[in-house]
Amino acid sequence: MNKMNFNTALIHAGIPNDASTGAVNIPIYQSSTFRRQELFASQQWEYSRSGNPTRAALESLIADLEGGSHGLAFASGLAALTAVLSLLKQGDKVLLLGSTYGGTFRLVDRYFQPLGIGYRVSYARDLDGLEADFEPDIKALIIESPSNPLLEVTPLRPLAELCHKHGALAIADNTFMTPYLQRPLELGFDIVVHSATKYLGGHSDLLAGLAVVKDEELARRLYFIQNATGAVLSPFDSFLLIRGIRTLGVRMDRHCQNALYLATKLAEHELITRVHYPGLPADPGFAQQREQASQGGGMVSLELDLSVDLKRFFKALNLITLAESLGGVESLICHPESMTHASMPASLRERIGIGSRLIRVSVGIEDRDDLLADLTDALEQASD
Ligand SMILES: *Cc1c(COP(=O)(O)O)cnc(C)c1O
Repeated sequence: MNKMNFNTALIHAGIPNDASTGAVNIPIYQSSTFRRQELFASQQWEYSRSGNPTRAALESLIADLEGGSHGLAFASGLAALTAVLSLLKQGDKVLLLGSTYGGTFRLVDRYFQPLGIGYRVSYARDLDGLEADFEPDIKALIIESPSNPLLEVTPLRPLAELCHKHGALAIADNTFMTPYLQRPLELGFDIVVHSATKYLGGHSDLLAGLAVVKDEELARRLYFIQNATGAVLSPFDSFLLIRGIRTLGVRMDRHCQNALYLATKLAEHELITRVHYPGLPADPGFAQQREQASQGGGMVSLELDLSVDLKRFFKALNLITLAESLGGVESLICHPESMTHASMPASLRERIGIGSRLIRVSVGIEDRDDLLADLTDALEQASD
C-alpha cells in the first residue's frame, strides 16, 4: 500500500484522480468503446468489458485496500463468486461451512453442481474436524468470518494453511468485515471476495461485487474469466462505489461503536435470551476476532424470548427497517429463518442453529440511543 496508512489509502490509493484532466475524482467514463489510434496496435482502453478507466480505478483501489496486487469488479457479489468458482474444473469440489451465505450455497448447489463442480458442507467445530472434511478432490474453500447470521468467528490463518497443505484455494468472503477491519490476504488467503453491495458501497444504492488476489497467475486467469463471461461492473456503479469507499473508515467506526453499544445493552434485557456479537467480551468468538480483526463489526444477532410476538415486534419498530441486505448507513433488521436463509433446507438451518427466535440487525450509523429505544420499545409492545 505504498506505506500509506489505511485511512489515507481510502482517499488516495488506487488511481485517485484523472490523469487527462486533473479532476480530483475519477470521471464516469460512460463509453462502451474507445477510438483505436492505429490498425494492428493494441492499446490500454479498447472496449469497456475488457477494461474501463472508472472501473480500473475502483479495481486498483480495492487491491490496495485488501493488500492484494489485482482487483476485479463485477455486477454483484454473486457475479464475483461465480467468476472465482469458475477457476475450478469438472470433478473439483468446493468446501463450504454450514453457515455460508444462502446465495453462495444456492450457486454451488444448483448452478455449479449440475456442471460437474461439486461441494461438501463441513459442520466441523474445530480445525481437526475441518481437516477431516478435506477430501482429495476439494480444490477450494469458501469461508465467511464472522458468519451470517450467527456471527461465529473462524480462525483464518490456520485455515489458509490447511487449504495450502491440501492444494486448495483459500477464498474469504470478507463482506461483513471489509478491509478496514480484517484483511484475509495478509492472513494467507489466496482470494478475497466482496458483496460490495453492503459495507463498501455503504448506502444501499447499488449492487456490486469485487474479487482481489495477490498472485499474478490467479489474476491473469480471473481477468480472462471476467472478460470472457462479462459480468462487469458499470462505469456509473464503479464511480458510486469509489465514492462510498472514501468514507469506509468513519462509517465502520460508527457501525462498530453502535453495534457494541446495542449488544452490551441488549445482553442485559430480560426479553432477549442471547446476543451474538464477536465484539462482546462474553462472546465465544471474542478472542479469535481480536486476533484477526480490529473490531467486532456492525452486525448483531439476537434471540428473542418466547413471550415476544414476532409479528408485533417487527410492526412496532419505527426506525429500523425490516429488509434483506445489510451494511448501509441506515439500520436494517431481518428474520433469517423466513428471509435471508429461507432457501436453505430446514434441516440445515436447524443443524447450524438458525431458529425461529433469531433476528439479525445491521446496525446503522444513526444515534445509538434512538436505535436502542426503537428496539426496546418494540420488545415491550410485543410482549404484553
Ligand atoms: C449479500 C452477500 C452476498 C451476495 O452479494 P450480492 O451483491 O447480493 O450478489 C455474498 N456474500 C455475503 C456474505 C453477502 O452478505
